[in-house]
Amino acid sequence: MIVAKFGGSSLADASQFIKVKDIVLSHHDRKYIVPSAPGKRGAGDDKITDLLYACHQAAASGKSFRHVLERIRARYIEIAEELQIEMDFDPEFAKIEEALKNGASREYAASRGEYLNGKLLAQYLGYEFVDAAEVVRFTVEGRLMEEETNALIAKKLKMIPRAVIPGFYGADTEGRVRTFSRGGSDVSGALVARAVNADVYENWTDVTGFCMADPRIVPDAQYIATITYRELRELSYMGATVLHEDAVFPVRKAGIPTNIRNTNDPKHPGTMIKASAGQDDASHTITGIAGHKGFCIVSIEKDMMNAELGFGRRVLQAFEEFNINFEHLPTGIDTMCVVVHEKELNPHREEVIQRICELVNPDQVTVHEHLALIATVGRGMVRNFGTAARLFTAISSQGISIRTIDQGSSELNIIVGVDEDDFEGAVKAIYDTFVRM
Ligand code: ASP
Repeated sequence: MIVAKFGGSSLADASQFIKVKDIVLSHHDRKYIVPSAPGKRGAGDDKITDLLYACHQAAASGKSFRHVLERIRARYIEIAEELQIEMDFDPEFAKIEEALKNGASREYAASRGEYLNGKLLAQYLGYEFVDAAEVVRFTVEGRLMEEETNALIAKKLKMIPRAVIPGFYGADTEGRVRTFSRGGSDVSGALVARAVNADVYENWTDVTGFCMADPRIVPDAQYIATITYRELRELSYMGATVLHEDAVFPVRKAGIPTNIRNTNDPKHPGTMIKASAGQDDASHTITGIAGHKGFCIVSIEKDMMNAELGFGRRVLQAFEEFNINFEHLPTGIDTMCVVVHEKELNPHREEVIQRICELVNPDQVTVHEHLALIATVGRGMVRNFGTAARLFTAISSQGISIRTIDQGSSELNIIVGVDEDDFEGAVKAIYDTFVRM
């Protein structure tokens, strides 16, 4: 059985709906479908979700939102008419307008995009519509109740052979509509896949999968055919995003693979994300390269620091007191380097340094700015000798100096820090060495 989630660009207009229907009906096992709200039809267009947020904002500040709601209605009507779907939107929009006038929440407003699209798609496919508010449960604080949700979806769908369940929202224990963070239909799809114990969770979008490197840097970067959830976490953490972060956990736990597919290129197998994958099906030593700019290194020096118990903890306390996450901790005998996001450090820079001085009385604290981190990730790295040597040679052969190095003992990932100006050159060099040669 397959659960298929379709993103906003896959359902942006009638021609996209036609592609979606072809995809769904081309495989008998595509039984549960999770749609987003209609997305942009091109540059300069608006996503329905953004228009709904705008309606709510206008309503909340006592302004008229009629014209925006009218635009939203026009989009649904256009899709329905072009597909010759008979659906009366009047009662739905009357209800939404009334609710907004009476102070409906921002989350309720946003959820209507998926709700209406789910109704439309269900009718178009001839599938049953299941309101996500019935089966996706949140606490009153807005946290997902994953086990309750799992049980509710499983129970409901047991009786329904084919259904459309809108993404992005659910309801809390008091019946109020709640949403995930932006892009959250990915999470809804993963929850449905887990609850019905799907063989695969298909996530249909407008890209063909994950690329081995950012195509803005390596324009002909290959697609990754197979990646593990762990590798994906490492790459996403470094900025390679296609999926909502929280969409990984429900399916990973249940051992269900996620298949990223392109609605506009349905024959392409896309990227398969699995709980585990043999090293043998890794076609290259590395699976992917990701990274980004905007880091800095706070370097703390003190003679005999290694003999001082609790030194590291106190240094990190200084960062924690200002709510600053540390990313990496490359450490020497008498130096400790804390790699942090520049934008987190900068507002409190002097205070943090001051606090480090109070807590550990260092000989010197220096901040090195404008650092880019690059993660080279791959389950195939363990079986190959000399991966680190090849990586460093690739970078140094471009005359680029490596500022920091971090490799966990799992050997899944080597992270290097370079000057921001060298970022693109280093990514290209790593790609050329491991993929082209
Ligand atoms: N429509 C929502 C958004 O734009 C949720 C989603 O598309 O996944 O964020």
